[in-house]
Amino acid sequence: MRVGCHVSAAGGVLKMLERAGERGASVAQCFLGSPRSWRWSVGVAPEPDVVREAAQRAGVERIVVHASYLINLASVDAKLRDRSLALLRQTAIAAEGIGAESVVVHAGSAPGDDPDAARQRIREGLERVLEATSTIRILVENPATGSVASGPAELGALAGALRTKRVGVCLDTQHLFAVGWAIDEAAGREEIVTALQAAQVPVALWHCNDSASERGRGRDRHANIGEGAIGAEALCSLVADRRLPEADVVLEVPGAGDGPRAEDVAAVRALLVRHERL
Ligand SMILES: [Zn+2]
Ligand SMILES: [Zn+2]
Repeated sequence: MRVGCHVSAAGGVLKMLERAGERGASVAQCFLGSPRSWRWSVGVAPEPDVVREAAQRAGVERIVVHASYLINLASVDAKLRDRSLALLRQTAIAAEGIGAESVVVHAGSAPGDDPDAARQRIREGLERVLEATSTIRILVENPATGSVASGPAELGALAGALRTKRVGVCLDTQHLFAVGWAIDEAAGREEIVTALQAAQVPVALWHCNDSASERGRGRDRHANIGEGAIGAEALCSLVADRRLPEADVVLEVPGAGDGPRAEDVAAVRALLVRHERL
């Protein structure tokens, strides 16, 4: 189990790794290009060897690319789906090109449509992205709203049907809380762990974030660990639960307004050491 955080890739991949190193992150997550734009604006990336050396210098062992927020493979709108697929494919190819291990993509939504049909569309999209790449893993992230992939049963149904190790699940603790899982309480954590086990959800990464909004509000609002409605101890006992697959932890917290700081990463690492997971 390793701990890292989201960092800006402004100035390029090597600069991004430097930032991760400054924060003591063993896992570096970044966007390639603007997360809220369809336009692909990534310049020439350094060779994988150069990236690998820079990662080593920075103490980064795993690079994760977060895909654009606009991507929605679940949509009923075929045009939006095509655009989503093209952008995700481009992101996955670029991520593979810099030696990233995985791409995280939000599951998407299809309000009013049958969730099974929506999950089938996601699966078809993912299969096409996997065809266009050879090593990268695609991690589907649970959203803060909707019924397509917001809980263990849905995520299990989505990933299970793909039957490939190149698809996994990224679980965001704030999003789980937003859709109503009481992970701030011991009984609630027990319930989610049992449900994740029952649905055989292939958890491959945690987005460990506290919540700036109350449980069940369906709002995507991250808070610093220990400064939100979930609490530091609750968050760490969930991600450190030994009944779940061991997965790295990435912070996507606001810090002082500029994203995760070294002290945020250090605090979570200390908690996980106490839970004997590091
Ligand atoms: Zn997240
Ligand atoms: Zn979020």
